Amino acid sequence: MNEDVDARARSVLLAAALVLGAATASGSHSAPAVCEGFPQTPGQIGGIHYRRSPLRHNVVFAGLAGTRFTLEGLVLSTSCKPVEGARIDFWQTDSNGHYDDTGTRLRSHQFTDPHGRYHLETILPGAYPGRTRHLHVKVRAPDQPTLTTELYFPGALYNDRDPYFDKRLLVHLAEVHRKLVAHFDFVLRIR
Ligand code: FE
Repeated sequence: MNEDVDARARSVLLAAALVLGAATASGSHSAPAVCEGFPQTPGQIGGIHYRRSPLRHNVVFAGLAGTRFTLEGLVLSTSCKPVEGARIDFWQTDSNGHYDDTGTRLRSHQFTDPHGRYHLETILPGAYPGRTRHLHVKVRAPDQPTLTTELYFPGALYNDRDPYFDKRLLVHLAEVHRKLVAHFDFVLRIR
């Protein structure tokens, strides 16, 4: 994807995010004072491209093409409590829709902090045949089963043509201090 197209993608995504507003928000930035229970984040296919990954919060490297953004949010339980030490694995395509299946480019894992927070510096993934832009994710709270899912982007070109697209998994996009920030809170059923 060249810079012109990428710049256009950024403005289209931001415009869509503004229109959709709170309707696409994945949740609050912190647990509410009175817990009424959060719906569990739905699972999705993991695909065939998951690999081991380095522990890191930034997968951007010098010369990497694509629109940079920060993905951030919380891991919460369905009883609205932050989950500390949850492991989150991310893997995605580059801006041309290609996975790195022989190395660790655009692959990472991390653990939530004591407030349940995570953050990742990355680029918008490119679409590939049959699939709209998406990030693959695995989330696992300590001693709990793994949730495998995907995240989607409001306004992305192929959302309405992707059979796996789920609007419950849309990130909330905003521009903060001239940086693109995507927010999503994962909610796990803790047994
Ligand atoms: Fe994929």
